[in-house]
Amino acid sequence: MNDEAFAARPSWVAARFPTNCRGCGAPIAPGERAVRWARSGALSCAICAPAELYANRPASREPREAA
Ligand SMILES: [Zn+2]
Repeated sequence: MNDEAFAARPSWVAARFPTNCRGCGAPIAPGERAVRWARSGALSCAICAPAELYANRPASREPREAA
C-alpha cells in the first residue's frame, strides 16, 4: 500500500470540536463518534459513514446469503 492510499484511509474517531457531517450536514458534537477522512480532515456522522465506507471499498462485498 502506498503512502497516499494509507493517508486517505478513513478512521473512526471521537470528534474533538463541533463540526458538521460532510455528507448530510448534520451537526457533530465533541465526543460524538464519526469517521474522519484523513485527506480532507472532514468528518462523516455515524449515519453517513457506513455508506461512505462501503462505497469506498468496491472489492468488499456483503457476505453471500447462506444457502
Ligand atoms: Zn451525516
